Order: sequence, then C-alpha cells, then structure tokens
Amino acid sequence: WEQQFLPPPLVLEDRPRALKIESRLSSLVLCGATLRRVGEVFQREIESGLRERPSSLQMENTYVPELPDGTEEGVFLALDLGGTNFRVLLLELRAGQLVREDVKHYHISDELRLGSGADLFNFLADCVQDFVRAEGLEHEEMSLGFTFSFPMKQHSISSGELITWTKSFKCSGMAGVDVAALLQRCLRERGLRVTVQVLLNDTTGTLVAGAHKDPEVAIGVILGTGSNGCYMERAERVQHWEARHARVRDVVVDIEWGAFGDNGCLAFLRSAFDSEVDDHSLLPASFTFEKYIGGKYLGELLCAALRGLARDALFPAPPAWGALDSAHLSLFEQENLSGAWSQTSDALRTACGAPVSRDDALVAQHVARILSNRAAQLVSVCIATILRRMGRAHAAVAVDGSVFKKHPRIRSLMDKYIALLAPHHRFTLQGAEDGSGKGSALTAAIAARVAARSP
Ligand code: BGC
Ligand code: MG
Repeated sequence: WEQQFLPPPLVLEDRPRALKIESRLSSLVLCGATLRRVGEVFQREIESGLRERPSSLQMENTYVPELPDGTEEGVFLALDLGGTNFRVLLLELRAGQLVREDVKHYHISDELRLGSGADLFNFLADCVQDFVRAEGLEHEEMSLGFTFSFPMKQHSISSGELITWTKSFKCSGMAGVDVAALLQRCLRERGLRVTVQVLLNDTTGTLVAGAHKDPEVAIGVILGTGSNGCYMERAERVQHWEARHARVRDVVVDIEWGAFGDNGCLAFLRSAFDSEVDDHSLLPASFTFEKYIGGKYLGELLCAALRGLARDALFPAPPAWGALDSAHLSLFEQENLSGAWSQTSDALRTACGAPVSRDDALVAQHVARILSNRAAQLVSVCIATILRRMGRAHAAVAVDGSVFKKHPRIRSLMDKYIALLAPHHRFTLQGAEDGSGKGSALTAAIAARVAARSP
C-alpha cells in the first residue's frame, strides 16, 4: 500500500546527482501514513466547522436544499466571477433541459482586481448592462444567479459576505459587505430590472450542474486556479442556520478546503518551497492548502523547487520568479509521459536564460511529477474523506477547473489515490461542463421552485 504513493525515481546518467536531487526534494514527497494523517485532521476540522467551533474549514451552509429534479424552467442571467475570466451568460431551461445559452467574456484588469470593491462591482454591473443591451433584453425583468467563487458567510441562498479574497483578487472596502446586495444596488442604479436570486460558489454550481446530468453526483470539486469542494450534508449536522430559514433534510455545504491548515493544523506538511510561494503570494499566510494544489501556484512551486536546486548547484541556473506557470507543469508532464524532452528544455532555456541539457530537462520533469503527485494526493485525501463521511455505496464527483481539464495525469492519479484512501467506497470522477454558468441558472430555478412550495 505505502509503495503506491511514491513517485518513480529520478534516473540520470549522473547517479550521485540524481540521489542528491531526490534528497533535496524529499520534503515534497508524502507517504501513505502522512496522507492518512491529513485525512484524520480533515475529518476533525470538518466536524468542528459544522459545529461552529474553531476550525480552518468554513463548512459554509449554502442554503441550497436540493438538487435538480428535471423540472427546472425559465430564463436566467448568470455571472461567473473568480477564475480566469469574468463571464455573463443568458440561459434558458425548459423542463430541466438547457435550450439556449449565450455567453460573453469580459476581461478584469489588474487595477480592478486590486482596486476598490465599489469599482469592481460597478464594472460587473456595466458588463451586465452591455450584455442585456446586446441581447435586446434591457427592459426585461430577469432573475440572476451570481457565481462568486470566494469564501462567504451566507445568510440565505441569496445573500452573503465575503470572508477573504483569494487567488488574484484583493479589492478594498469589502469587509462585512453583502456581495449580492452590492451587485443588486449597482444593477438598480443602471435601471436594470434584474433580481439577484441566488448567490453561490463555483463548487455548488458544479455539483448542481453535475447532478443535473447524473443523479449519482453528490460532490462538487474545483481543481483550477484555486481549489475547493462541496457536498450534500445532512441538515441536522449543520449548526449554522439563520432563523428565517425552514429546516430541510439535506443541504449543500461549501467546505472551502483551500483554507485547510490556516490554523496551523497541517504544519507537518509544509516544505521550504511552500513557504517561498506563500511569501511571494498576494495574500500570504492565507489559503495555505490551496497553495499546494491550485493552478495559480503549481508553476510557482516548480520555480521555487528549481531555484532551490540551482542554489545547490544541482540545476544550471535558477528560473526567474514567475517564469513558469501551471501550463509548463502540464507540458513537462506531457513530455515525460511520451519520453520526450525538447519542449521542456526550450521552456527552461527561456525561463532560466541558460543552456539546458537533456538531464536538466529530465530533472525539471521529475519536479513537475512530484508536485503533480502531491497535489493529486492532497485533493484525493479530501475527496476520500468526504466519500467515507457520506457513506454511500457509490457516489459520483463532478469536477471542473483548468488543472483537472488540462493536466495530462491528474485525473488518473486522483482515481488511483482516492481508491487507495477510500477502498470501500465506489466512486466516479466526472468532468463537469461549465458548472459556474449552467449550475448558477439551475440553482436559481431550484430556489424559485423551493420558494413557490413554502407556505
Ligand atoms: C475560493 C473558493 C473557490 C475556489 C475555486 C478558492 O480560492 O475560496 O470559494 O471555490 O477558489 O474557484
Ligand atoms: Mg470557474
């Protein structure tokens, strides 16, 4: 069992160099026992979070009480904020089927991502206005689902405050601000008759969209720029309910596992390379677990590790900080799979500004392999823990995000590690199609259905 967690050895003609490199990188290699320990800590943090005791896990009640049942109807706007692009969508559902989907992408500049919250939300509302004008719907009354992919304290299915920015956003003046209400105000100021009906996280959208395709889906996961998961929890296990909400049987809980360990409970995992990435990040000492697995950080980890090797004269020259990203990691993995190295060495020559030999390229591929392995293992620990907690005979997991879609090995690694960590639970990983967009419209339709039913 232990053997199966280890990455393959580094094989170079210069064997002493290979051994030194492996020893220099050993803090990035996790054994099965360590992963079990991470799982136990995760389970404890889940329990504490659900009970509103101190925990690094938010375990947020999303107030989404059920999954699609195939009766969803209506025309919805959806906003997707938090990943690479900001998108506005128009979606039409008829008897649960998506019959129309128009999408427009908008670029969010660095100034907006790092400026004031008011400027950002005014920009979002400008985009909605631009979109509905182009669609000829400027004067229509419409419902909107807002996919806001950041940790929130939710008060209801349609309101919530930002807890902290993550990834590449850091806008000022947002403490204690209800993001749905702020968006609503900006839309009204533009004379738009659009109502923010639901506020949700991208994992929730992914779960809802996944369950729409396959009723076995009970977990939603994002493995992209950032990483997170949500699942269907029994409502009686969730402490946080605000009074005006009726109790239901189940509810979607947004774990926010990116913050796992922010209270120090995972200190045993952290390597010097992780500290370097954290120090360089926009929001240091926050979302430390996400910095082990998110696409925003995998390239930086690659940089940090190669720089460490260069310092010890085990690599020809240090890559410039920021010169490698997660697309490089995927490329190195791809070449490694096919036994090639020419594109790896081209990329390294540019990043390091020095000539790179075949062995050097193999070293970089080995680092990519180790980092991919660790990321897959850590996300697998989380999924395996949830599967065990849910205790179903079989569950499907809807997964979205750029790393999951583009990394050539991540999916098969996850299949392998989840099976090793939850051997008694059958599961399938399903690539989700645009959970943030479609899931948002479906969730708005669910909210309308539930509201119509309540007395
Ligand atoms: C956010 C989560 C989100 C994840 C994936 C994290 O940084 O905190 O809310 O689900 O990124 O987008
Ligand atoms: Mg997204």
